[in-house]
Parts: sequence; C-alpha cells; structure tokens
Amino acid sequence: MADRDPSVRVRFAPSPTGPMHIGGVRTALFNWLFARHHGGTFILRIEDTDQKRYSEDSIHLITEGLRWMGIDWDEGPEVGGEYGPYAQSERVDLYREWADWLVDHDLAYRCYCTPERLKALREQQIAEKRDPGYDRHCRNLTPEERAANDAAGKPYVVRFKMPTEGATTVHDLIRGDITFENTQLQDLVLLKSDGFPTYHLANVVDDHFMKITHIMRAEEWISSAPVHKNLYAGFGWEMPQIAHLPVILNPSGKGKLSKRSAGFSEGGRKIPVLLYEFQDAGYLPEALVNFLTNVGWSFGEDREVFTVDETIERFDLDRVNPAASIFPVEKLDWLNGVYIREMDPTRLAQLLMPVFTKAGYEVNPETLIGATPLLQPRIKTLNDALEMGRFFFVAPFEPPIVADLVQKGMDAPRTLDALEKALVRLEALPDFAAATQEAAMRALIEELGLKVGQLFGALRAATTAQQSSPPLFESMEVLGRDESLRRIRLSLDVLRKAAE
Ligand code: GLU
Repeated sequence: MADRDPSVRVRFAPSPTGPMHIGGVRTALFNWLFARHHGGTFILRIEDTDQKRYSEDSIHLITEGLRWMGIDWDEGPEVGGEYGPYAQSERVDLYREWADWLVDHDLAYRCYCTPERLKALREQQIAEKRDPGYDRHCRNLTPEERAANDAAGKPYVVRFKMPTEGATTVHDLIRGDITFENTQLQDLVLLKSDGFPTYHLANVVDDHFMKITHIMRAEEWISSAPVHKNLYAGFGWEMPQIAHLPVILNPSGKGKLSKRSAGFSEGGRKIPVLLYEFQDAGYLPEALVNFLTNVGWSFGEDREVFTVDETIERFDLDRVNPAASIFPVEKLDWLNGVYIREMDPTRLAQLLMPVFTKAGYEVNPETLIGATPLLQPRIKTLNDALEMGRFFFVAPFEPPIVADLVQKGMDAPRTLDALEKALVRLEALPDFAAATQEAAMRALIEELGLKVGQLFGALRAATTAQQSSPPLFESMEVLGRDESLRRIRLSLDVLRKAAE
C-alpha cells in the first residue's frame, strides 16, 4: 500500500526503574502499531544508565508486560539484532567515545565545578529570583586552566555547548513546529562524573546508531527536543522524525495520571495505573490494547471496538490528538465485558482457573467448564467471576442463614415445607437438566400456591448461599444433582434447627 514504509524503525526505550506504568505501555503500543502498520521494525531498548534508579527485576517486568499485551519486538533483549547490545549499560564505551568527540570538536566541554559550587550558585539564583541553571563557568576556561584541572585529576562532567542566541525549532509530527529560545536552554550534562552518560547523550547516540527513523515518546520529553536537535546538528547526524504523545490525565481531569493516582478512587473503586494492577484486576490484554489505542488516537467512524489487526491497518500519527486525554477507566470495564462475551469459552475457562485458585478455591475443571458459559455474559472483569461464581467451588459449603432462605411473604415453616417437597421432586427426576428441573419446580409452585420467587429464591439461597448468581437451574445442573441436593439438605437442617 502507498502509505507503507518498511524502512521505518522505531523504538520503545523504557528506563527499568520499577513496574510498568500504563502511560509507558501506551507509548510502547503506539510505537509498535506504527511499526506494524508500516511493515517496519520495532526495537526494545533498555535505558539503564542511571545506576541509582536501576532495578534488575524491572527489565523482566517490562519484557513480560509487553509479551502479555501481545507487543513483540524485532530487536532487543532476548531476541538480539544487528544493532545491539540493546541495554545502554552495555554501551557505555560508545557514549564516552562520542562525548570525547564532542569535546575534541569544541562542541562540549569538561566542567570541573564542584557540587558545593553548584549548590551555592543555585541558592544565590533563587535568592536573586533568577531562573536556576548552570552559569557556564567552565565553558570559558582557558586551555591552561583546563590542563591544570586535568593534571590535578579533578573530577569533571561533560557539558554540551548550547547555542546562546537565536532559536531552535523542532518539527513535531503531531504538534507541528515548536520553537524554543536558545537563551532558555542550558548547557546540559552529557557525561556524569562517574563516566556514565545522561539520558540526552545515550538516547541520541543510540537512536542514531540504531538507525531510528521516528521517535514517539511521552509529552514530558518535549523540553529535551531542542537539546537533542542541537546534539544531532553537532554530531552532523540526521535527526529522526519526532512526535510527542499526548499526556494522560487521571479520571478527574486534574493532574497527570501517575502512580499516585492509583489510590484515586472513582465510584469507590481504585483506579489501576501500573500494568500489573490491570492484570490483577482481571482485565484482558486484548481489551486493554483496544482501550489504550482509544487514549489519544481515534479509529474513526465512531468505532470504539476494533481488533488489533484493524488498528494496525489504520494506525498512523495523523489520527493522534495532541490534546491531553482523560483516562476513561469506566470505558475499560465496558470494553472488557465486550471482549469477555466474545471470547471462546474454553479460553475464558483457562483464564478463570487461576482467578479462582489464587483466591483459594479448589477448582474442579469440569465444573469450571460448565460454569463458564453461565458466568460469561454476566462479568466485566475476570475477577467479577469470583463474586458471581464462587458458590460453584466453595468447600466446605456453608448454608445460608434462615433470613436469607425465607423469601418475601414466606415464613420459616412454609419455606421448610416447600424445600422438603422440592427435594423429593428433584431426587426423583429422570435427569437433572435445567429444563427438567424447572418444569418440575413450576408444577410444585402451582400445587403449593406459591409465587415463583418464593420457591426459586429459597432454592437459590440454598444452593448458592449468594444474593445473586447465574440462572438458578442451569447453575444447579452444573453443580450436579448430588451437590445441589446435599446443599438443599443442609438448608433444611438450618430451617429445622430454627423451628426447634
Ligand atoms: N528512557 C526514557 C523513558 O523512560 C525514554 C524517552 C524516549 O523515548 O526518548 O521515558
């Protein structure tokens, strides 16, 4: 197709500092969709040069999280590739080499300022109500001063020499031209005194050597874009095209969706923010993918439900809206329900199995397979199945209290009588199919002059001990005759004891 460009190379470049945030997942997803749309390459690069914040486990959380979402990478950790290594901690020599290159070409300089001097400078600037920032003291050292500092073995950082006048314009594929006054820009640190690069240097060097064609990253990096543009110019490298994705706001619309929003509750429920919180809450990866593509991008035709293949077919940056998007978490519940209803019941049963076992239930696979089609139309998340269907698996089964057995307009002796008769009829049925049970129970209702709810309600309470459940007779069929009758007998005991 005309708009396909297989030379596209994009990357997701997370810093492994903890569990994946849903905003990061959205960035990964958009890059991946873009690559897949174009038939290009999607790269996973681990930006782990900040040794203080780095955590070993989080690389695993990232790779597992992406896999769970169905986001596969063509180059990166575990899969390798021509432009590796793909973890920045393994590329440190390259960054040092290019930092030196910039110093040698007078595009960067060694800064020997001590932390004490920088702190005093900052305090002075704050006291004088000036913008804090480095005063470029070491930019103007004489060659002799530099040589003396080096000879004395003074620690240094490498700072980039930003232009001090004029303006830098960055063309953003979503936002158009963004212009920054150079006087507002800092001589940022590229290499730290421990010899490790900062984000700016490592990111630019890697994007260049990994032949990245398009950068799509979070809006918070816009202010770095002019620095990066000047770095590319200094190196004499072509800058990839760049786009900053819209920020995600928490559901109140006030403030960015952050780890702190996790405690934020809407309608009394906790808002998930980290990927594992969505997993733990029982959302499906395909629903989450569909949901996230709607956060900042639109499919068009007013459609909110679409497959990932349909999204890939259509995905491009012209449909990304630069405006901040509110996190429409209630849409996710709805969407998840849609996906659950459309799912193959065998797969749903497989997904429900760990939900019940993790909650401590011993699951009989046959019962689960029978129960799944009953739960399927009635749950929005996998976890809802616990609430709705735990009665299938509770052991030991605790019968309900008298008040829950006795329905409106009934009393305990009449309930006891009705349930005793129901038990006799159910025991005698030629088979235990839902329709057979229902016909027998309706006949009994007629004979006893009861209302439907009076007997069905008592039977539901007796067999499930829950206020709500899937349809009664289908549930009893899945439970099986022995277990259903056993439960009814337990309730009869409860009623008899109360009568004593
Ligand atoms: N390591 C940066 C992050 O964690 C990557 C930003 C970028 O994509 O340039 O967000």
